[in-house]
Amino acid sequence: MYNFDILIKNATILTMNDTMESFENAYIGIEKDAIVYLGTDKPKAVSKEIIDAKNNIVMPGLINSHTHSGMTMFRGVADDLSLMNWLNNYIWPLEDKFVTEENINIASKLAIAEMILSGTTTFNDMYFFTGVTAENCKNIGMRAVLGEAIINFPVSIKKTSEDYFLEFIEKYADDDLITPSIVPHSPYSCSEDLLKRIKKLSDEKSLPVHIHISETIDEVKMIKEKTGMTPVEYLDSINFLNNRTIAVHCVHLTDNDMNILKKRGAGIVNSPESNLKLASGIAEVPKMLNKGLTVALGTDGPASNNNLDMFEEMSLTVKIHKALNNDSTIMNAKEVLRMGTMNGAKVLGIDNITGSLEVGKKADIIIIDINKPHLTPMYDPYSHLTYSANGSDVDTVIINGKIILKERKFLNFDLEKVMLDIKNISSEIITYKNNGMK
Ligand SMILES: [Zn+2]
Repeated sequence: MYNFDILIKNATILTMNDTMESFENAYIGIEKDAIVYLGTDKPKAVSKEIIDAKNNIVMPGLINSHTHSGMTMFRGVADDLSLMNWLNNYIWPLEDKFVTEENINIASKLAIAEMILSGTTTFNDMYFFTGVTAENCKNIGMRAVLGEAIINFPVSIKKTSEDYFLEFIEKYADDDLITPSIVPHSPYSCSEDLLKRIKKLSDEKSLPVHIHISETIDEVKMIKEKTGMTPVEYLDSINFLNNRTIAVHCVHLTDNDMNILKKRGAGIVNSPESNLKLASGIAEVPKMLNKGLTVALGTDGPASNNNLDMFEEMSLTVKIHKALNNDSTIMNAKEVLRMGTMNGAKVLGIDNITGSLEVGKKADIIIIDINKPHLTPMYDPYSHLTYSANGSDVDTVIINGKIILKERKFLNFDLEKVMLDIKNISSEIITYKNNGMK
């Protein structure tokens, strides 16, 4: 006899486990933070709360494996510019003035809410004042891999001290929702000495290292001129890469780069929507998958996407590679859903607790309402999730065994207040921009 805190019944369940099992009219039992039952036989149980998932798809929460959550305040502030113009004349001056602990508190709350409303239950973040983002995750109930962005060139953005970053790592070392990480911005914006110190710390503390690599042609050229090597070859030459490396973008990789990343066991995160919008290029995802690399997906920041909807990211990924390779069989719906769930967990090093629905794992679950015109009829749930659904079809979200969102309403979070607060910040940003960023 089970004592469930939550029972989900009548469910079409996509487990996203290694054999991609799925079930019809099935049950999931949750006790405390974990899945304790999953199957088609009705369990003998007493349940505190029962969710009837008839006409719903039940699957693991999506994993946004790369974003900059605090940048929600800069969403849409400057678009359709060249990357360097965008960064030098808009994003960096705006960050210099508006990235404060107070503003990040509001902007990260908005990002977390937006992600939960579109089915993301874990995100991997690279930004500043990580402490407030972590507290927001704890209060709202979101899972995240978080680290303080480190950058020392070409602009020295020093928002917090080194002590802040070390204290953060200590504070969240054994947390049930937060995994601390180390976050050097990129090989072109961090000195060799800094990268070596980061690697040493990550070895000592067994922490993941989250870094942008080979996002643009210019970056590859810059590193080649300086070192004679590609960014991946350069990082490997200083023994930086290993199975805790989270290599983000990887748009411009050579075959040798891919082989090095594979040999070192590094995980890849691609953000195609941002790469398209900033005209950075298109990563060779099918080739990476063929080489046995683990490739996950992230939205990148909301200033270059401009939303945090992982359904869009998955749909776009599978379509661009079909078109680019003139081959509609090169990637499929199941594969890209794996990238948005289990591959994310693997790349972030948390696949022992999340990424799939399996007994023993934490209950990170999303329930998608398919009783809608654009999801009717349903022959194949994988197809619908990739080609027809969007983030606003997510009805209910459970993270770490707690119901966070029910029928698209937050149970314990005031979204209206955050929307008002962010509009106040945006008024200040508009005034500053209209005065020529002075
Ligand atoms: Zn990024």
